[in-house]
Amino acid sequence: MDYQNIFLEIPKELEQIADKGNVASYIPELSNINPDKFGIHLTTIDNRNYSLGDSDEKFSIQSISKVLSLCLAFKLEKDELWSRVGVEPSGSPFNSLVQLEYEKGIPRNPFINAGALVICDVLVSRLSHPKRDFLEFLRRISGIENISYSPRVAASEKSTGYRNLALISLMKEFGNIENNIETVLDLYFNLCSIEMSCKELSKTFLFLADYGVHPLTKERVVSVSKSKRINAIMQLCGFYDEAGEFSFKVGLPGKSGVGGGIVAIHPGQYSIAVWSPKLNEKGNSYKGMKILEFLTTRTRSSIF
Ligand code: GLN
Repeated sequence: MDYQNIFLEIPKELEQIADKGNVASYIPELSNINPDKFGIHLTTIDNRNYSLGDSDEKFSIQSISKVLSLCLAFKLEKDELWSRVGVEPSGSPFNSLVQLEYEKGIPRNPFINAGALVICDVLVSRLSHPKRDFLEFLRRISGIENISYSPRVAASEKSTGYRNLALISLMKEFGNIENNIETVLDLYFNLCSIEMSCKELSKTFLFLADYGVHPLTKERVVSVSKSKRINAIMQLCGFYDEAGEFSFKVGLPGKSGVGGGIVAIHPGQYSIAVWSPKLNEKGNSYKGMKILEFLTTRTRSSIF
């Protein structure tokens, strides 16, 4: 499929999308971003590239990093992981506390904040220098050297991150957090603060479009089975209480972040990243979802 002609239609399509949504402001640093930024980049598994707008500009990937931390924790912990975190859609907001109480500290899935905190706990237990080792893993699998944390964004989130503190405290009380909660939170806030561009995201995530092997670096990042399962969790849980809507309209496994980024995968074909900072009421990029809906419909490339 040649995506070029359809990419050329995106600017016109963007004009027709209402200017709705708000930039995330509960993390003070994120409210400084220009709300009108827009970038998109698609990479096919045979390395054809299509991009538009601010696709080379780095932004805060926030919860998109939860897919990458899951990959590393799943590799290290294997199926033992699933005794500490589930694989069911939550149907609740990403930072909700409600289910944790009656599910005895076992989060529904690894992409809501509670689940991602358990994943960070696994990484703290398993890695000798969690922050450094994770970055090394990310740089290796992406082949991109200049990926880093943003200490400013991490500190900003730490100063207001009371919900995440509440979530991890409750799980610690239930016995589902092994390490010091400050250490685990520090890793979590840093992972959320990673900055990457649409182009870098789309290239990095290509291994999930090629059954676990990165087609550009040839590295096997995860097994075929793990790749299938991670895509399945993205399909069911990547957009929290809007996962059904994303499947319904876009029809690809994907993951959003409150920085306004979305990554989506078409297994066997491509990986795509889009960035537009204004979020809908569920915390997902308003324009990002609309443009992906347009794209998968016009290119007939939803998985459905
Ligand atoms: N760092 C954010 C938080 O914990 C991530 C949320 C998101 O991107 N959905 O609230």
